[in-house]
Amino acid sequence: MKNDSKLSLTHKILIGMVAGIGLGVFLQTFFAESILVKDYIVDGILNITGSIFVSSLKMLVVPLVFVSLVCGVSSMKDTARLGRLGGKTVLLYLATTAIAISLAMAVALLIRPGTGIELTTEAAFVAKEAPSISQVIIDMFPDNPIASMAQGNMLQIIVFALLFGIAIAISGEPGKRIGKHFEDFNVVIMKLVTILMNLAPYGVFALLAKLFFEIGFDAIASLLSYFMVVLVVLLLHALLVYPSLLKVLTGLNPLIFIKKMREAIVFAFSTASSNATIPVTMETATHKLGVRNSTASFTVPLGATINMDGTSIMQGVATIFIATVYGIDLTAGNFLMVIVTATLASVGTAGVPGVGLITLAMVLQQVGLPVEGIALIIGVDRLLDMVRTAVNITGDSMVTVAVAKSEGDLNVDTYNNPQAGRSEEEVHLPHGESDINVASAEKA
Ligand code: ASP
Repeated sequence: MKNDSKLSLTHKILIGMVAGIGLGVFLQTFFAESILVKDYIVDGILNITGSIFVSSLKMLVVPLVFVSLVCGVSSMKDTARLGRLGGKTVLLYLATTAIAISLAMAVALLIRPGTGIELTTEAAFVAKEAPSISQVIIDMFPDNPIASMAQGNMLQIIVFALLFGIAIAISGEPGKRIGKHFEDFNVVIMKLVTILMNLAPYGVFALLAKLFFEIGFDAIASLLSYFMVVLVVLLLHALLVYPSLLKVLTGLNPLIFIKKMREAIVFAFSTASSNATIPVTMETATHKLGVRNSTASFTVPLGATINMDGTSIMQGVATIFIATVYGIDLTAGNFLMVIVTATLASVGTAGVPGVGLITLAMVLQQVGLPVEGIALIIGVDRLLDMVRTAVNITGDSMVTVAVAKSEGDLNVDTYNNPQAGRSEEEVHLPHGESDINVASAEKA
């Protein structure tokens, strides 16, 4: 590898993360009142850099998902495989979410966060209208695919790309010609992802410095029990449940998985958006973990949209917390209802910051708990959102690897190779010659 003496991109991103958190905490501790720091550094330089970084990630999501999914589907020889792939993926997504929320409620019931907390009367939260399940299903089908793309409606884009890819696959010669263009397009977009990833250390630094300057640590102190229970269950799920499931389902070494996920985890943590992280999750799944593009292009965007294990963990703990603070007893039937509602609620809700609180309103309403209770936990939600988003995308990737392995779509050598994907991190902008070298993990 030509750049071994230099820091790898992953290390630079990790340094950006630590330095950003450090700067944010430093500025908050010593310069919280300084107008100069707030206006010029935090709302100026850091805000501009961080916002441009998130926008450029989001910019890639729609073209990347559409093009790579069309490529993946059109290259599938057997369309029955598509149904099997979809079935397995959705089943695993639902199962991992159900495990996550059950674990969250079990731990929360054991520890009972919220005991002894005084109910403040000014608690107020106006719930946004959550869509009904039938509406979610209807909304999956686009009536105007261009509008779906303009709005970034992931499920609609997935449905359109699936149909378009199938049509290409069965269109004979014209289909082959169009398919070839899509493949070229895919290579170019992945290159764009690589270029932007090289800006990540600065983007992550700016985002985290701004966030840690603004975060209200005082709120955390008063809600410590709730905060800690959510955090501990998130870590348990990510570091115990996923690795065990991966081992049982695939026999692969889960430590390699966690190590290779670091970069994507930092992206998810700093953006608090599974959606904005899609380009990085896809890169990691295909180039580092060795998942064939035809599988990852389907499972990753789908997961970013419907699989939110981390979010459901927060919802499970929050439900128990709110019930405890309001002194409301929940029955076993209520618990079951929470598991079912929270699992279904994550379907059709986009992976963007803070959306988990909106679906929490739906869960609370189902079991007759006061929606205003959400106001109690809003103050500490941003930091938890960052951690749970990291868990959400780790879950998407774990299922992606498991499904790929079962379908023979995983290159185990790439998975086990610590250097896999490293060469794509280096981007050499052309000075007279181009350097298009996308060594994908695709099996020919
Ligand atoms: N921010 C989360 C995500 O994008 C969703 C949430 O829990 O609010 O996955």
